[in-house]
Amino acid sequence: MILIDGKKAAAELREELKNEVSQLKTKFNKVPGLTVILIGDMTPSQIYVRNKEKSANEVGLKSEVIKYPDTVEEKTVLEKIEELNKDDTVSGILVQLPLPKHIDKQKVIETILPSKDVDGFHPVNVGNLSSGYESSVPCTPLGCYLLIKKIEPNLSGKKAVVVGRSNLNGKPMTQLLLKENCTVTITHSRTKDLKAECLEADIIVAAVGIPELVKGDWVKKDTIVIDVGINKTDKGIVGDVAFDEVSKNAKALTPVPGGVGPMTIACLLKNTIECFKRSQI
Ligand code: NAD
Repeated sequence: MILIDGKKAAAELREELKNEVSQLKTKFNKVPGLTVILIGDMTPSQIYVRNKEKSANEVGLKSEVIKYPDTVEEKTVLEKIEELNKDDTVSGILVQLPLPKHIDKQKVIETILPSKDVDGFHPVNVGNLSSGYESSVPCTPLGCYLLIKKIEPNLSGKKAVVVGRSNLNGKPMTQLLLKENCTVTITHSRTKDLKAECLEADIIVAAVGIPELVKGDWVKKDTIVIDVGINKTDKGIVGDVAFDEVSKNAKALTPVPGGVGPMTIACLLKNTIECFKRSQI
């Protein structure tokens, strides 16, 4: 079984991006810029944002974090986004989720210019992705996609099963696999026989949030299994896939932690660079 090393893949991607930023700097005499808006003092969000800033600096991006208390008015945040939309030194804008209840998430997402939407959540980007046009792609599914392609460059005709239909993970993952000519089944909490669906799959991507949901006897021999889940349990952080059981059947499997997670931030940097390049055309 191939243990898919997300840390190594992310480090390689960051190295590629670092070289690309250096070339862009020579060509345009400026570097891509990422601005993150962080609202409130939730510890996980603060850690994510710190890691994003550290990685952005590492590859040579210009990075900025704008912090607001969780009492900030929605209007203040929307005005700041409008200001960043007009700022030529800002290639990508990300508002760290979740937001306090009094701030309308959808309004925030739709205020970010689609061309600066590095999270790929704006409806224009969602539409472009599903129409097969160029778009920003949400970072976690993009990371999963790159890991799958490392194992199997030609996905045409493969049967893929995506477990979970969130806008963040399952739906964009489905679109990426469709673009690669996979036959894709998207499953969710109302799916009647999840085990039977999974047993058909050459590729399984699990993004559910239920510890070790996907069992060893749900996976046929030679399946590529990507585990997006991050679940806190008594035995520590585990994924949505029962790692020990599934590793006996799978052709390749991502561990949790150290699989998809590290790729997510690297893909955010990639998206920022892509936004910058599109803005220079
Ligand atoms: P979500 O709660 O928005 O969506 C979960 C999906 O799972 C839903 O579509 C739901 O229908 C489906 N589901 C629920 N119960 C099910 C069942 N019994 N069988 C089949 N499907 C079922 O979750 P999300 O935001 O997509 O996150 C999923 C997991 O991925 C979480 O553990 C989250 O922490 C993790 N995550 C990891 C990263 C990363 O970088 N690795 C990024 C984002 C989310």
